[in-house]
Amino acid sequence: MTKHYTGLIERYRDRLPVSASTRIISIGEGNTPLIQLQNIPRLIHKEVDIYVKYEGLNPTGSFKDRGMTMAVTKAVEEGSQAIVCASTGNTSASAAAYAVRAGITAFVLIPEGKIAQGKLAQTLMYGAKIIQIKDNFDAGMKIVKEIIDHAPVTLVNSVNPYRIDGQKTAAFEIIDELGDAPDYHCLPVGNAGNITAYWKGYREYAADSGKLPAVASKAPVMCGYQAAGAAPFISGKMVDNPETVATAIRIGHPQSWDYAWAAQKQSGGWFDCFTDDKILAAQKMLASFEGIFCEPASAASLAGALNDIGSGKIPEGSKIVCTLTGNGLKDPDIAISQCAEDKPVVVEATLDAVKRAILEQM
Ligand SMILES: *Cc1c(COP(=O)(O)O)cnc(C)c1O
Repeated sequence: MTKHYTGLIERYRDRLPVSASTRIISIGEGNTPLIQLQNIPRLIHKEVDIYVKYEGLNPTGSFKDRGMTMAVTKAVEEGSQAIVCASTGNTSASAAAYAVRAGITAFVLIPEGKIAQGKLAQTLMYGAKIIQIKDNFDAGMKIVKEIIDHAPVTLVNSVNPYRIDGQKTAAFEIIDELGDAPDYHCLPVGNAGNITAYWKGYREYAADSGKLPAVASKAPVMCGYQAAGAAPFISGKMVDNPETVATAIRIGHPQSWDYAWAAQKQSGGWFDCFTDDKILAAQKMLASFEGIFCEPASAASLAGALNDIGSGKIPEGSKIVCTLTGNGLKDPDIAISQCAEDKPVVVEATLDAVKRAILEQM
């Protein structure tokens, strides 16, 4: 029987910290589509190539799976029987799934009442031990960083360096597909692990990390976007009560603070923030003009790119990649409430009534 390779560790194993004897914990993550937008550039009358990296097609529906395959693989290799994380939802879903795959236990701390329905459903189905806390993500993060000294559990938040290693493979995939790095890379920033990971991956392929042969001629300008109510990188200081409809980036105390600033400075990039309305408008635009459904937090990348293309900060002729961090199905409540005015018609179940309904709406 031929061996069937699926996940990103197999694909990029020479660039990841695994050995021939490492048992790989994979559910077939990575290798997500890089989709060129066709209608939106025309709509905004700009000569730009915008690609979206659709991370919502990972096994649990977010990019967190890239980091989790590595983090859980290493936890198991090191003999761990349990993992722990704080989460706004996607990390918990991912940790729960990979723990099942490995045959170990996942403990997840989530903010009570503040995680999207889809993420909660997944975490329940995978059978994680859910601990709801009466506070936000940042409070949970503080606790899990301490709990590892008091219980035999491995921390799998993005402060775990293996998470960053797994997630950097998204940059590899983009370069492998485009033949070189894009000019600009736009992504939402919450805890700032992902911007750290992309920057690491881009630099490794451009070989300015000093150890690998170059695959890319350059690294992109990194543009990190936040929600206005949770924007510590814009105010320059931590935010104590972050609020946004984009719950995946409802974070006021980013753990990868210094790494994210380094990515911004070294790449010549910037941070910016947008209101919830603007983020939701970008989410709807992507769905209704391109057929691509991402969760609210993910749409911050497109909201930012469109804003900066509009202002000329990102010039025409640029090649831009936006990471769509999570699947739109994660948060059905927000999606349905956004479409409250587009109520479906109700008609009698007859040929005539359905015919009329179609012809009226042509
Ligand atoms: C985790 C997450 C983010 C934020 O990523 P960070 O690495 O915390 O900056 C953005 N969008 C979605 C959908 C996420 O799950």
